[in-house]
Amino acid sequence: MHSESSPLGEFDLIQRFFKAGADAMRPNDEKTIALGIGDDCALLNPAAGEEIAITSDMLVEGRHFFMGANPELLGRKALAVNLSDLAAMGAKPIGFTLAIALPTVDKAWLEAFSKGLFAVANQYSCPLIGGDTTAGPLTISITAFGSTPSGKSIHRSGAKKGDDIWVSGAVGDARLALAALRHEMNLPENDLKQIEHRMHNPTPRVDLGMKIREVASAALDISDGLLGDLQHILKQSQVSAEVFLDQLPKSEILQKQSEDVQNQFAACGGDDYEICFTAPIEKRDAIDKISTALNLPITRIGSITEKVGTTEKLFLLNKNGDLLDEIKSAALLKSFDHFAK
Ligand code: ADP
Ligand code: MG
Repeated sequence: MHSESSPLGEFDLIQRFFKAGADAMRPNDEKTIALGIGDDCALLNPAAGEEIAITSDMLVEGRHFFMGANPELLGRKALAVNLSDLAAMGAKPIGFTLAIALPTVDKAWLEAFSKGLFAVANQYSCPLIGGDTTAGPLTISITAFGSTPSGKSIHRSGAKKGDDIWVSGAVGDARLALAALRHEMNLPENDLKQIEHRMHNPTPRVDLGMKIREVASAALDISDGLLGDLQHILKQSQVSAEVFLDQLPKSEILQKQSEDVQNQFAACGGDDYEICFTAPIEKRDAIDKISTALNLPITRIGSITEKVGTTEKLFLLNKNGDLLDEIKSAALLKSFDHFAK
């Protein structure tokens, strides 16, 4: 970065806001990080029999977050969404790199951003191991590395006819918070307070991802909306699915909304970062045990069926198990496009 006007040089900036936080983390006792920040590359040294999972997510101001967004929450979310991708593969976080473009060197902003970033890094024992820093429009790009025993990662392509479909936590609250903040809907202040964190401060389901490695046939994390994301599993697994709309897990606050809003937001709202996975029916007990152990609801919402001719179809069912009215169904299946970021 060339920022002559800045009182803080590039290396001081990296040292103060990024390397110091990385140094302050507990040392990685598994020695998976052979070399961290400071050289031309970081070095990973995976244990024998482990595979490395790699994922990148970029956040661009004005596109993925509002101008002037809270920097501490931004730091948290930037890492959390990457850890959510690792979770969806069943991977354990190893470390991450951060490429960041900054319009100015704003120390208060950097302080808050790195506070949020390292809070999540520490929570999941995932150290910062390198990156790049440059001047430019505010852009945050993180690449996270994780590990799984070889051959044990969970892919989108493994769903089989007869499998159950499961979802962790609750879906739709991030979309409800967004609607309230955009004044598209009126939400009592107290209700908004309780769900706002679902939009700004998502929880990556890292422990869940690692625990379902032994039971899940396919998995992904829900970033663009449950039904839209589930269709990625269907396509890659070449199967169809039946989903009971009234079974989608919803918070008490979402349940206060009209039925249409509940269904719309739970089925199609984005930014939930829950895990949707499929598993053979004989794994039900094991999944209930995982749910209890993690104190995290895991809800069965439908099942995998055969492809219809050559197409993967998603059928929505109402309370009675009948196919949902065709117009309503088509609207829900299409609507995730409207929320595409
Ligand atoms: P190079 O010129 O080889 O790309 P840099 O001068 O950009 O190296 O970076 C010096 C060191 O600081 C490298 O180890 C790099 O990974 C690290 N680094 C740069 N920016 C960041 C950042 N935002 N977060 C963490 N490490 C960073
Ligand atoms: Mg560089």
